[in-house]
Amino acid sequence: MSKPAGKPLILKVAVSVPLSRQFDYLPATGAAAADPGCRVLVPFGRRRQVGVVLSHATETDVPAAKIRHCITTLDENPLFSDDDLWLLRFTSEYYHHPIGEVVAAALPAALRQGKMLHPTQTIVAITDAGESADVENLVRRAPRQAELLEVLRDAGGNGLDEGALTDQIPAWRRAGKALFEKGLIHRFSARRDEPESAGACAGQPGPTLNEHQQKALDTIRKPDGFDVFVLDGVTGSGKTEVYLQLMQDIIAAGKQVLVLVPEIGLTPQLVARLQDRLGIVPSVLHSGLGDTERLQAWRGARAGRAHLVVGTRSAIFTPMPNLGLIVVDEEHDHSFKQQEGLRYSARDLAIARAKRRDVPIVLGSATPTLELLQHCLTGSYTRIELPVRAGDARPPIFRLVDLSRAPMVDGVSEPLAATIDAHLQADGQVLMFLNRRGFAPTLICSSCSRVTECARCDSRMTVHARDRQLRCHHCGACRPLAATCASCGAEVRPLGEGTQRLEEALQKRFPSHRIQRIDSDTTARKGTMDAALAMAEQGVADILVGTQMLSKGHHFPKLTLVGIINADQGLFGTDFRSSERLAQSVIQVAGRAGRESRQGEVVIQTAFPDNPFWQCLIEGGYGRVAADALAERQATRWPPFTWLALIRSAAHRQQDAHAFLDVARQLIEKHAIEHLRVLGPVDAPMARRAGRFRAQLLLQSSDRKALHTVLGHLRPVLESEPAARRVRWSIDVDPVELF
Ligand code: ADP
Ligand code: ZN
Repeated sequence: MSKPAGKPLILKVAVSVPLSRQFDYLPATGAAAADPGCRVLVPFGRRRQVGVVLSHATETDVPAAKIRHCITTLDENPLFSDDDLWLLRFTSEYYHHPIGEVVAAALPAALRQGKMLHPTQTIVAITDAGESADVENLVRRAPRQAELLEVLRDAGGNGLDEGALTDQIPAWRRAGKALFEKGLIHRFSARRDEPESAGACAGQPGPTLNEHQQKALDTIRKPDGFDVFVLDGVTGSGKTEVYLQLMQDIIAAGKQVLVLVPEIGLTPQLVARLQDRLGIVPSVLHSGLGDTERLQAWRGARAGRAHLVVGTRSAIFTPMPNLGLIVVDEEHDHSFKQQEGLRYSARDLAIARAKRRDVPIVLGSATPTLELLQHCLTGSYTRIELPVRAGDARPPIFRLVDLSRAPMVDGVSEPLAATIDAHLQADGQVLMFLNRRGFAPTLICSSCSRVTECARCDSRMTVHARDRQLRCHHCGACRPLAATCASCGAEVRPLGEGTQRLEEALQKRFPSHRIQRIDSDTTARKGTMDAALAMAEQGVADILVGTQMLSKGHHFPKLTLVGIINADQGLFGTDFRSSERLAQSVIQVAGRAGRESRQGEVVIQTAFPDNPFWQCLIEGGYGRVAADALAERQATRWPPFTWLALIRSAAHRQQDAHAFLDVARQLIEKHAIEHLRVLGPVDAPMARRAGRFRAQLLLQSSDRKALHTVLGHLRPVLESEPAARRVRWSIDVDPVELF
């Protein structure tokens, strides 16, 4: 870039602070300007910060006397390519989130802290003087020095790394001191070479694809470049087999594949399957990795060495120079949307990234989100159906148990208990699904009916019987379990069912069978989740009791019965997505039943068996529910027919939370945009959480551009708004939770 004479080169730098702007710096004194994509260390106020250069410019608003120099450049070569920087900028603009924080979210922790990209090692090597020194003479006078000199002579000019040297001569440092002083040996630091990744070996062949899978594969292979494919396949239809064949093509062509999976979908089982079939070790990126491991995986992807990168949400930002394909598995899963800080959807960013890089993207699910289905209807995305289960597996049979006639005892009705018994007798494994952990959702007084509430949240405390505690699942508050009511002194008892209570009841009823409960209470410790899943898979436990965690993508070969303990919560939800979500969760958990040759059965306990939702789902499957829900959304003008953004605020005083949103509303109204509805401010559905009052303002528009224009104007003004100082606030674009 040639710059006009006399004007200094300005670096536009992203610094991780909650402000929607870039910061201008001059290059480090006496150094060349760092290229875009490189990290620089910059003075920021009285601190030093790691920033990333976004671009070069010749203009700045900062007065010449005030503009500061970078302290140093941290990278020789850019960490982010132009395409990577494009994705970061796009994320910042689309989600109306400060670019510095977006960049920070995209960097592994070690790089964010300013560590070097490549680990270095200290090498000790012989000098020219050392080569010609008289060792014979030295042997007599200083035998240890002579020994060290010999070893380093043998090592040659590349020398030895200090660690390796210590292995050979543990006390080399003392002898070395004199040799350094005499200039016979020297020390330098060098980049440690990456261990060569285990060479690709031939993977195991997979099953012969059935006609549907083959057709799917042919459709996806056909075009060159960007295209969005929605692989809509019933559970167990062999979607993964389709991905595997595609990956093989891409990897064989020397390109890279990025696979995004839900948070709890990334199991050792999946990694082992990929490795077996593709013959390469996938680079895995998830939140549980240590800093060093994460950096190593990131480096491999950035260098193009890693051909298969499998990760959760944040892996979407990983630089991959030879990207050839993106796969998003279980795209309906909510863990693809980050719910705090930078509230991005990794699935949506994956589509944007694939478009920018002109590569195909495949989004798979048995229960595709309505947003994607609508794009398929309008023809912008291609829907590919896998309507039958692969191999011998048949679809499960659904049955409703009417709770108004067959009441539950500790969560289990008599008809369900009898069905469990029949499956166990036939040596089947059963899974009881209840999306509530703990013993019971609350404690109720037998006399005054008072329920125990959290002091800091508008929420009930959950009974955890085994630990004799009451816990708030929203703020984590704990209290000992009392036997009597705090207001009237009468006896209290647990009300409703949680997974602990269900486990106990089933154990009493089926004492000779092994029960395994899998929820976030039993799998909190690292590794326990994987161990529990492995046991469930091997069929060690006959009865599995679990939450949402168990419903995702797992394959339990012996499982023949799924019981849905309480499905009614979702029937009357207030969120416009309630029925979509309920259908997704029922279909996903039902999909665990009968995945091999034995017939699967699904029993749903409900007090409302006549609700049309159930008939629709059982007779027409997810497709029918989705079609109905889409028609309803179109009539009521909800997404995907309109676009939403939610502005949230939280404060110690309710009026502060509202006052801030009142200001926001006034600012929005100044723009007088057509087709923009502003709803609120109102209290959030759970108005008080962890001692803070929460309120929200919902923006809805049928014109996506207009909505973004307003948000773009709003954000910087809100940042400097005095009312903002008393609240925590955020903008959530395309929110998935409306609270
Ligand atoms: P999904 O990803 O749709 O849930 P998978 O690819 O995991 O499905 O396949 C489900 C099961 O069916 C797996 O055990 C898989 O090995 C098997 N399978 C997949 N495709 C075939 C096929 N064409 N023939 C036989 N078995 C298959
Ligand atoms: Zn609480």
